Amino acid sequence: MNNDLVSLVKNRFRKSFGNEDILVFSPGRINLIGEHTDYNNGYVFPAAIDKGIIMALGKSNTNRSTIISVDMNDRLELFLKDLKRIEANTWKNYIIGVIAEIQKKRGTLLNFNCVFAGDIPVGSGLSSSAALENALVFGCNTLFNLKFDKMELIHISQKAEHNFVGVNCGIMDQFASMFGEADKALFLDCKTLQSESVAVNMDEFEIILINSNVKHALAESAYNDRYAVCQKLIKLLNKTSLREVSYEELDTIKTKISEPDYRKGLYVLQENDRVLQCREALEDNNMKKVGAFLFQSHKGQSEMYEISCDELDFLVNEAKLNDAVIGARMMGGGFGGCTINLVTKNGSEYFQKKIAVSYKKQFKKDCSIYKVKLSDGTRLI
Ligand code: ADP
Ligand code: MG
Repeated sequence: MNNDLVSLVKNRFRKSFGNEDILVFSPGRINLIGEHTDYNNGYVFPAAIDKGIIMALGKSNTNRSTIISVDMNDRLELFLKDLKRIEANTWKNYIIGVIAEIQKKRGTLLNFNCVFAGDIPVGSGLSSSAALENALVFGCNTLFNLKFDKMELIHISQKAEHNFVGVNCGIMDQFASMFGEADKALFLDCKTLQSESVAVNMDEFEIILINSNVKHALAESAYNDRYAVCQKLIKLLNKTSLREVSYEELDTIKTKISEPDYRKGLYVLQENDRVLQCREALEDNNMKKVGAFLFQSHKGQSEMYEISCDELDFLVNEAKLNDAVIGARMMGGGFGGCTINLVTKNGSEYFQKKIAVSYKKQFKKDCSIYKVKLSDGTRLI
């Protein structure tokens, strides 16, 4: 827990409103393996991390609710009766969205005050957005005793993002942030939303995230394009999702589609298999094997699904050349953001120093490096 951040939020709340009623921590997340499988009804393997949003909340007797973002140095005054999204990209829509979606189910809330700050790098694929939504929905649920269960809470978060932010996200981010468990990853079946928490033995290893600090403009259009390719394939195969398709079935349409489209379909089938195999390797406590799947996953993302970029390929290749790294891959939608690296503890510091220097030399800009631990999900602190 980032105690400085906790103090900052508490002090800010006390200065403006007096003592808070509750304090919430809501984490960001990583995804060990299973990229672009979610919208194909497949498997993913995320985990909550020890970076997140700290949020203080308290009931208020005034005629409006005040929400303060410490990081944005900005405040939002709301009359809760008539909420509308703001026509701009702003943190306020996450807040308005969550409250409005709660109110669709429980009627107008009583007024409250809220102060929050976070230490998740924003927009880097660690899901600061889900952490924020979950912090608020969990906070309101507790403060007003609304009696939603956690599954209902994450669907409210997701709807807030769909309807008020305009991002058609899957459920993985909110799920991982809410249901995370310390030292475990969550094997999640995106078709059934059944999950299983699996221990990740980090005795000898650490998880190092390397932020390329780039986000290429292609990201959004490429995401939609990949989605469209997958839809095209399942239509041709007369299936509801790539989850239902076998390698043999995919081969039956090989001559009807372009080679790059075939490769993309094949990537999704292979990535789904890798998630299943990765779960087995974790259960066997074979971290080296887990690492090998990460490298394979990156190769598929780069050469078959074509969602990587020079910066991410460079970071993964450099990691591969370092004996301390047992696995690495790009994480998230692609075309920028972070790589995830499984690194032996005793070689980690040297690896971090070396890759920072070589990245700067290659791209004339800095990467950012974070060590993360797998942590519990959204909770009171
Ligand atoms: P990601 O979820 O990958 O970090 P998104 O673009 O989905 O990236 O969400 C980032 C947005 O979430 C920010 O632009 C901001 O609106 C909101 N947000 C995240 N963290 C904070 C924070 N600490 N304070 C205020 N707003 C935040
Ligand atoms: Mg997000």
